[in-house]
Amino acid sequence: MTLHLFDTYARQERPFAPLEPPKVRLYACGPTVYNYQHIGNYRTYIFEDVLRRALEYCGYEVHHVVNITDVGHLTSDADTGEDKMESGSRRTGMTAWEIAELYTRDFQQKLEWLNVLAPHVWCRATDHIDDQIAAVAQIEEKGYTYRTVDGIYFDTSRLDDYGYLARLDIAGLQGGQRVDLGEKRKVTDFALWKFSPEDEQRQMEWDSPWGKGFPGWHIECTAMSAKYLGSHFDIHCGGEDHIPVHHTNEIAQAQACYDTRLAEFWLHGAFLQLDGEKMSKSSGDFLRLESLVEKGYDPLVYRFFCLGARYRAKLSFTWESIDGAATALNRLRSAAHGWGEPGAADEACIAQFKERVEDDLNMPRVLALCWDLVASDLPDAVKKATLLHFDQVMGFGLAEWAPQEEEIPAEIQAMAAKRQQARTDKDWAVADQMRDEIAAAGYEVEDTPDGPRVRPLKS
Ligand code: AMP
Ligand code: ZN
Repeated sequence: MTLHLFDTYARQERPFAPLEPPKVRLYACGPTVYNYQHIGNYRTYIFEDVLRRALEYCGYEVHHVVNITDVGHLTSDADTGEDKMESGSRRTGMTAWEIAELYTRDFQQKLEWLNVLAPHVWCRATDHIDDQIAAVAQIEEKGYTYRTVDGIYFDTSRLDDYGYLARLDIAGLQGGQRVDLGEKRKVTDFALWKFSPEDEQRQMEWDSPWGKGFPGWHIECTAMSAKYLGSHFDIHCGGEDHIPVHHTNEIAQAQACYDTRLAEFWLHGAFLQLDGEKMSKSSGDFLRLESLVEKGYDPLVYRFFCLGARYRAKLSFTWESIDGAATALNRLRSAAHGWGEPGAADEACIAQFKERVEDDLNMPRVLALCWDLVASDLPDAVKKATLLHFDQVMGFGLAEWAPQEEEIPAEIQAMAAKRQQARTDKDWAVADQMRDEIAAAGYEVEDTPDGPRVRPLKS
C-alpha cells in the first residue's frame, strides 16, 4: 500500500505521489488574526500536523507554508461588510497592526502547546502586498477582471469550470440569489482589490495601479503559495468551510494566472461542533484552548480527543469526551513510562500502523492499535519502542513525558535529611522521631535502592 489521501477536487481517495519526489510542497490556510483562535480552528491545525508528520514518516521532505491573514478578510463572504481586522481593532481599542501581532503570537504559542510542528515558512498577507498586486495585474492582463465603484472583481463567468472543487450549482446559486450584488455581475464574482471607502480612514491601505485600497482575501493565498511553493504544488489544505468560496476562488485565480489548479491534492478537515453547530469566532460563543487548561486539562488531551475521530468526520465537543480523552492519554502515558527504556520495535505492529496511517490518516484505528499494544504480551522494551514509533505521527511527545513529581516542601526535605543523618549515626530515637514528624506533616519516607524518597502520604 502507499499513502492514500482523500482529494476534495477528485471527490475520492487517491494514492499520493509527490510532483517532485522526495519533496512535498504543502500549503495550509492560516488564521485570520482579528481574535483568538478557538479549539475548532485548532482541530484543523492538528489534522494538518498529522498530515505533515505522516508525509515525513513516509520518507518525504515536506516544505510546509502557512499564511497569516492580517488584512482583507471581510465579515461577509459576498465581499461586503467590514474588514475583520478593522472591526477587531474597534472591539479591542488596539490598532489593526497591534491585534495582528498579538493574535499571531498567541496562535503560534498554542500550536507549540499542541505539539504542532512549526511550518518552514510563515507568511503574512501584509508583507506580500506587492506580490498580490502583481497577481491581480496578471489576472487583469489576461482579461478576467472588471471594475466597479468599490473594487476590481474577478469575472467568474470567464471560466467554464468555475466552482468545480465545490461542485457548485452556479445556475441554482444565481437563481436563488437574494443578496444585493451592487455592481457585481454575478453572485460568484469576487473582489481581487477593494478600494478604501471615501468616508472612512482605513488603518491598512496601500497604493495600487487601480487606486488606494487593500487586497481581497483570496488573492493572498494564491500569490503567496505560488511564491513559496510554485504555481502547481502538491497539497493545499484547510477547514471544510474553505471549499465553496475561498479555495474555489484561489483555484480560479490560479487558472487565470498560471493555468493550473494550484495544488494537485486539496484536503479539508471537518468541523468541530458544539451543540450541533459549527464552532465559530464570529458567533462569539467559542472555547479557547485556555478554557481547557483552566479546567486542569493538558492541551495534549485536546490533541488526543481530535485523533479519536477521522479528520473528515464532524466531531462534537463535550466535556465528557474531553474527560475520556484525559483518562485515556494518562493511561497511555503511564503505561509507556512504566515500560522503561525502548528496545527494538515490533515489525508486525509497525506494518499494521503504517497501513492505518496510509488509509487516509486513520488515527482512530492507530489509537486502537496503541491499546492492542498495551494489552499484548510483548516485552516492555518492545512495546515502548513500538509506541514511540507510532508517536512520530500521533505527536503526543511520549518520549519526553514523565509523571510530575509533586513538589516536596523544603522543611519536609530538611526533616528527611535529618532522619537520614540520624540513621547513618545509628541514632534510632531521632530517626523515629523524624519519621513521625514527617508523617504528621502528611508525608512519608520510602527507602529505595537509590536512597530515601519523600512522597505525600496516600490518604
Ligand atoms: P479562520 O481564522 O476563520 O480563517 O480559520 C482558520 C482555520 O480554521 C481555517 O482552516 C478554517 O477552515 C478552520 N475552522 C474554522 N472553524 C472551524 C471549526 N469549527 N472546526 C474546525 N476547523 C475550523
Ligand atoms: Zn487561504
